[in-house]
Amino acid sequence: MTSRRLLLSIVVLLAALMVIACQPPAAAPQPAASNELNVLCTPQVEWCEGMKTEFEAANPGITVNFVRMSSGESLTRLRNEKDNPQFDIWWGGPVDSFIAAKAEGLLEQYDSPNFANIIEPELMADPDKHWVGVYVGSLGFATNNNSGVTPPTSWDDLLKPEMQGQILIAHPSSSGTSYTTMCTRLQMLGEDAGWEWMRQFAGNVLQYTKSGAAPAKFVGQGEAAVGIVFSHDIVAEIEKGSPLTLTFPEEGTGYEIGGMGIIKGAKNLDNAKKWFDWALEPATQELGPKYNAFQAPTVKGAAASKPELLQVSLIDYDFQWCGENKTTFVDKFTNEVAGADSLKE
Ligand code: PLP
Repeated sequence: MTSRRLLLSIVVLLAALMVIACQPPAAAPQPAASNELNVLCTPQVEWCEGMKTEFEAANPGITVNFVRMSSGESLTRLRNEKDNPQFDIWWGGPVDSFIAAKAEGLLEQYDSPNFANIIEPELMADPDKHWVGVYVGSLGFATNNNSGVTPPTSWDDLLKPEMQGQILIAHPSSSGTSYTTMCTRLQMLGEDAGWEWMRQFAGNVLQYTKSGAAPAKFVGQGEAAVGIVFSHDIVAEIEKGSPLTLTFPEEGTGYEIGGMGIIKGAKNLDNAKKWFDWALEPATQELGPKYNAFQAPTVKGAAASKPELLQVSLIDYDFQWCGENKTTFVDKFTNEVAGADSLKE
């Protein structure tokens, strides 16, 4: 090879190397946007199905899969799946369980822009933004009109001898409704007298159910005379035609804030945030009655379908205390008052 040809070859090689060096780096592959959302849904199944339909209509391309589970069962499930979460968001059920879940590191922080919509943020939202309230509801008594039993108007009416074997309530280990009832009594009476009251009350309970709303249905069917249930669930049964009378304890009743939180390690995090934001829109919170759900909203601009359910004597329910003590109180009830072996489905 002549020295001229050699020089030319070197120049061509250098030019080729420069072209290669100037190429932009190959772009990292972008993860495809997820098209799924797995919701752990604690309210009644009809409302869960309705929310799935409405969310999918508002977010074309996202499919919602939901499982309906009571509060206590949900908490156990989230604990068991902590290292490999199967759900992205938990929607509904009293916030006591969300406070317990936060303490166990099961919830993700999310600073939704729609926190600004919340009516009473000190009460209805976690200051660290792990959970938020999505509805409010008070506890009431459902009495079957054909039972011959006078509808109770005081907690102590439930202890009367004529109530023996006449009461249905869910078990606090599985149900948030029942846990709210128990913590209401412990708070109103103090722990010593409160546990004594729970023991006497248990003597009149016919059977414990798994789900909180079930006693309203069974009492409507005549299986027992009185059920202790959230008042909006009693109204839902009455609207379906059940022969029930709704009453409240005059000395004050407990109430729930139904919660929502994103699951720590959610695999479809962006979609979970979309649901979270959407659930805090006034239009979303007004959807309840369309699906036979009469809880009151937690956001400004949404009208309550049954405002009278909160215009009763309410105690200043201590969500923090009840949430922090949930495991202790439930274990005490299960071990010392009534076991959870044979719950009615
Ligand atoms: N279903 C309805 C309609 C409710 O209002 C609530 C309260 O949050 C629940 C279920 C809670 O379910 P559970 O008591 O079974 O935990």
